[in-house]
Amino acid sequence: MSEFETRAIHVSQDPDANNGAVIPPIYMSSTHKQDGVGGLRDGFEYNRAANPTRTALQEALANLEGGKFGLSFSSGLAGEDAVVRATCAPGDHVILGSDLYGGTFRLLNRIHRAAGIDSEVVDLSNDEALRAAIKPGKTKLIWVETPSNPMLAIFDIAHISKIAKEHGVLTVVDNTFATPYLQRPLEFGADIVTHSTTKFLGGHSDILGGAVVVNDPELHEKIRFIQFAAGAVSSPFDCWLTHRSIKTLAVRMDKHCSNAQQVAEFLDAQASVEQVYYPGLPSHPGHELAKKQMSGFGGIVSLRFATEKAAKNFCSKTKLFTLAESLGGVESLINHPAEMTHASAAGSPIEVGGEIVRLSVGIENPNDLLADLAQALG
Ligand SMILES: *Cc1c(COP(=O)(O)O)cnc(C)c1O
Repeated sequence: MSEFETRAIHVSQDPDANNGAVIPPIYMSSTHKQDGVGGLRDGFEYNRAANPTRTALQEALANLEGGKFGLSFSSGLAGEDAVVRATCAPGDHVILGSDLYGGTFRLLNRIHRAAGIDSEVVDLSNDEALRAAIKPGKTKLIWVETPSNPMLAIFDIAHISKIAKEHGVLTVVDNTFATPYLQRPLEFGADIVTHSTTKFLGGHSDILGGAVVVNDPELHEKIRFIQFAAGAVSSPFDCWLTHRSIKTLAVRMDKHCSNAQQVAEFLDAQASVEQVYYPGLPSHPGHELAKKQMSGFGGIVSLRFATEKAAKNFCSKTKLFTLAESLGGVESLINHPAEMTHASAAGSPIEVGGEIVRLSVGIENPNDLLADLAQALG
C-alpha cells in the first residue's frame, strides 16, 4: 500500500479474522485473559497499557505521519504533557514558537513551570533570536506550531530542526492544523509530531483526543511509559471513531482547503476587513514556504477588523458559521480567540488582539458559506 488515501483506509483495518467483519470490532474490554500467569495473548493485559482498538489507531497514525511509533491520548494536551514529562526534568528549558495554541502555552507556563521546567516564547523565524535562546544543556525542546493557531504563521520545519540538532535539542511540531495529509514534519527532520485529534483528524466535532508520533525507539519508550504510567489514554470508542474518521481525511481536507481558499479570497476583497491571514493567499508572508512544506493550505482562515467591536459584531451575526471553540470539523465555526480559545494567553507574549476572528471553514457548499459571511459583514 503506497498512497496516502489508501493507507488511511486500510492500515490496521483488516477484516476480522474470526468472522470476516469488514470493520474490526471495538474492543470494549478493560482486561485480557492470560493463559497462565504472564501468558499474554498478543501482548495484551490491561487497557491502560494497551487495547487492540487503540493499537490499530496508533499504527495508522504513525503510518500516515511517515513515522515508526504512534501514541494515542485522551486529549491533545494530554499528549503534549506526556512529551514534556518524557523529555524534560526540573531545571530544563523549552522554547515555544511566537504564535501557538493558548492551551499549550498554559500547560508550559502554569503546570510545568511550577515543576521547575522553564519556558520562553521566541520568534522562530529569527535565527539569531532562536540561537541566542538555546541554553546549552538545558534547552530540551523547540515547540513549533505551523500553521500556527490562530495567526496562521508558517515556520520552516527543516531549518528549525537543523538548528535544534546542532544543539542537541529535540524539535516538536504540532501538526494539528495541517494534518499528515498536507504536511509530514518527520520528513523535514522534526523529532516529535503532536496532534489534537479533536480537530481535523477526528473531523466531526464529536471526539476529544490527542496523538504523538516519533521515529526514535528510545523516545517512543519514554513517552509510552508516561502514557501507561500516568494513564491519559483514549477510550476504545474514541479510538474507533478517530480511526473511522481518518479514512475520509483526504477528501475532507481537499474540500476544507478549496472552501477556505474561496473564503480567504472573498474576505480579502472586503473593505471592512483590515487583513486576512491565510497561507494560500500569495500576499501571506509564509506563502512560498507553505508551498514548499505543505501540499495544501488547510481549512483555517483568520481575519482582523479595525476594532474589537467590529470583530465581536461579526461573530454575533454569522448564522451558518457557529460561534464555538474548536476547529477542524465538517461544519464551519467562528471563534473570537482573545476571549475564547486564547483567553489564557491574555497579557502574555502570545496574546491575541481582540480585533482578530478565526474561522474554521467546513465542507458545506462554498456559496452558502460566502453568502453567510457577506450578510454578517452587512
Ligand atoms: C486544540 C488544539 C490543541 C489542544 O488539543 P485538545 O484536544 O483540545 O487537548 C493543541 N494544539 C492545537 C494547534 C490545537 O488547535
